[in-house]
Amino acid sequence: MKYGVIVCPRCGMAKGVETNKKTTTCQCGREIKLRRMKLRFQTDSPMELAGSVARANAAIRGGEQLPSEKRPRKREPYSVIAERSQHSKDPVDRMQLIAQALTDLKGEFTEEDLGKVLHAVGKGSPKDMIAKLQQLNLIYETGEGKFRSV
Ligand SMILES: [Zn+2]
Repeated sequence: MKYGVIVCPRCGMAKGVETNKKTTTCQCGREIKLRRMKLRFQTDSPMELAGSVARANAAIRGGEQLPSEKRPRKREPYSVIAERSQHSKDPVDRMQLIAQALTDLKGEFTEEDLGKVLHAVGKGSPKDMIAKLQQLNLIYETGEGKFRSV
């Protein structure tokens, strides 16, 4: 058999090795002498080897799911706005930025929309912010409970 699976004595993770090699170096940096290692699984198929390493590591981690391929998660627009607003230090600027971004996103926004952004920011009351924005003439009411930035 060309390949085998060993378990690193230092970090305890499974690793696929070529059985004709004398040593291998684990991800953790430990150099492992293969002669002394018990091969947990042997195969001639690199595919099978990869699968059994993955399964062994999943079992070692306590049966947790293998991390799936990283695919960019579609960002929630409210949290994007919240994050962007955090770059502004001035509270009025920040409010204006949020109102503008919500207007760009929705055409007009409600207290609930603002609440979602503030929820992502982790602070602030949408009611208070709408009151302040109106005081400052940064937004105007387009209809019942609906606002646009000026
Ligand atoms: Zn290791």
